Formats: sequence, structure tokens, C-alpha cells
Amino acid sequence: MTEQLIDSFGRVHNNLRISVTDRCNIRCFYCMPADDVVFMKRSALLSFEEIERFVRVATKLGVNKVRLTGGEPLVRRELDKLVAQIAAIPEILDVGLTTNGILLADQAEALYAAGLRRINISLDALDPVRFKEITRREGYEKVIEGIQAAQQVGFDPVKVNAVTIRGMTEDQVVPFGHFARETGAEIRFIEFMPLDADNAWERDKVLFAHEIIESLNREIMPLVPVGQQDKTAPATEFMFEDGVGRIGFIASVSRPFCESCNRFRLTADGKLRNCLFSLEETDVKTMIRDGGSDDEIAAAIRESVAAKKEGHEINTARFIQPDRPMYSIGG
Ligand code: SAM
Ligand code: SF4
Repeated sequence: MTEQLIDSFGRVHNNLRISVTDRCNIRCFYCMPADDVVFMKRSALLSFEEIERFVRVATKLGVNKVRLTGGEPLVRRELDKLVAQIAAIPEILDVGLTTNGILLADQAEALYAAGLRRINISLDALDPVRFKEITRREGYEKVIEGIQAAQQVGFDPVKVNAVTIRGMTEDQVVPFGHFARETGAEIRFIEFMPLDADNAWERDKVLFAHEIIESLNREIMPLVPVGQQDKTAPATEFMFEDGVGRIGFIASVSRPFCESCNRFRLTADGKLRNCLFSLEETDVKTMIRDGGSDDEIAAAIRESVAAKKEGHEINTARFIQPDRPMYSIGG
């Protein structure tokens, strides 16, 4: 029987998120600094072979789900090759990707052919001007084209991640509700978390899930919970009561889901993190490059997961924001 990665709170970890780069073609204010970003050296990034080896070791510990992220994963050349390498590992049941969608129209077909089936595209506004305010770059139309291309090649469902920011995205909520109904894409509203490079997060800037639910109920029609939810999934899912349009909520601040967390992370420069908000990490890149054995890598994974804390402390005075912002961790 396959070993399981169980932490000291009994949580089983089968879900690995891998960042493939910290580079990005836009500059979302809640993630990256506006200018002068210091990126990792290319030689610091794990190669596809190194990532594949790590995943193979992790599968022996019960990992069967992988999601690729970044930075912007599609700026890493030939990402479809990595998808194919991971999808070919027999224990892997599911490979997903989170992308800003800007380069997706050109790559959707190759990614699908490589075995990718789950895709989340990030888009916080259905308005090019607001898009630019948030991302500090052009690209709105490209993202829309990326969403359409993903649907055309057969990704189903296509999920759209929208970070919710008070004072900035309230007026996007209802348009997103209609977008979900019209396109069949599932919108997942994500509460703004303290992982921005500028350290400007404040609780007052979080637009909470319950407020969004209230406005969709009022302005479109009541949302009803979708039955049979995956207890380890971070999103709570709803649909409009006429059955048309799915909406999910990742309420990391107002309703943390740490209790059922099944994830751990590998950064693009080969550091193992047991939580987005960890203040510690384990250097597996050096282990891999210095000739470490599979057993040594497996021991490092076990130890990291075993040391996982009960939950993040965003809602307490004890909270300390990690040194790495989101783009450098891998969201
Ligand atoms: N570049 C890709 C993208 O944007 O989809 C993948 C990496 S990005 C870090 C992954 C997800 O994290 C995106 O959906 C993004 O909106 C979200 N994210 C980034 N910073 C965040 C923050 N401070 N709070 C909440 N979500 C955040
Ligand atoms: Fe880039 Fe994604 Fe961060 Fe936006 S959220 S800056 S798209 S890595």
C-alpha cells in the first residue's frame, strides 16, 4: 500500500502545487511589486527533469494531484512538455494549471494534448480599464481570448479566479455573475490575502465572500449550494437557483479552510513549503543537485509536512507575512 503523508493534525497531503517560474508578464498589485522586480536566476530554477524526479518521489508518499503555477507558468518555455512528463507518471490522476491566460490562446491546444484537464484562469475584472489598474499592464482582450480558446479545445469546466478587493472590484461582482451564466465558465471569487509584495494588505481591503453572495442573490437570483462538495477543496461552490451559472468562493480570510488542507508546495527555486503562509522552507534543490537519494528527498518531504502548523493566523495579531510574496511562492 502507498504510504500517506499525514501531518500532526491528521491531514492527508496528496496535492502538490509546483511553481515553474517567478517571472510574469503582468504586475498584479496584490502579488508583485510595480517595478524593479528581482527574479530568480534561470540557473536557480528547477529543470523539468528535476521537477519530474521530485514528483515521482512524492507519488511514492501518496501524492496524486499536481497543479502547475507561478509567477506565470506559461512564460516558461515548452510547459506542455512538463505537463506530459507529469501526466505520464502512473500514480498521477490529475494535472492542473493556474494561469493569467495572456499566452493561453496560443498554448491551449498543446496543453490539452499533453494531458492537462484542469485549468484556472485568473481575471479580476470584466472591464479593460479596471484590469489595467489591477495588473498595471495591458492584456484584458488576450485573457478573454485565452478563456474562449480553453473552452474550445475542451477544458471543462474552465474556472476563472477573481481576487476580490474592497474599493476596487465590488462593481465587477454582478458582471461576473452574468459571465458565469453566459459562458459556462465557473467564477471563483478569492478573498485578497496578505501575500502582496508591497505589504499593503489590510483586512479592510478584503471584499468578503458573504458580501458577494448577498449582492448576487439580490441582483441576479439566489445562489444555492452545490451538493456533494469535495471536503478538501478550498472553494465552496454554489449555482444560481435556476441551475445556470456556477460560482465558487475561496474565503481564505473570512472562513479559513486550513482544517481540511491537503496541499504542500514546491517553489520554482526548489524550496519545499508546507503552507502558503509558512515562514520556513526546506531546500530540496540543493539536495537534488548534490546527488541526494530518493530516500533523502522523501524524508525531507515527510519532515516538512509533519511540521505543518494547524492554520494560518491572518485573523490574529500574531500573523507574520512571509518574506516571499505570492509570485515567488506560487499561488
Ligand atoms: N500567474 C498565474 C495567475 O495569476 O493565475 C498563476 C500564479 S498566481 C500567484 C495564482 C493565483 O493567486 C491567481 O489566481 C492570483 O489571482 C492569486 N493571488 C495572487 N496574489 C494573491 C493575493 N494576495 N490574495 C489572493 N489571491 C492572490
Ligand atoms: Fe502574475 Fe499571477 Fe501574480 Fe498576477 S497573480 S502578478 S498574473 S503571478
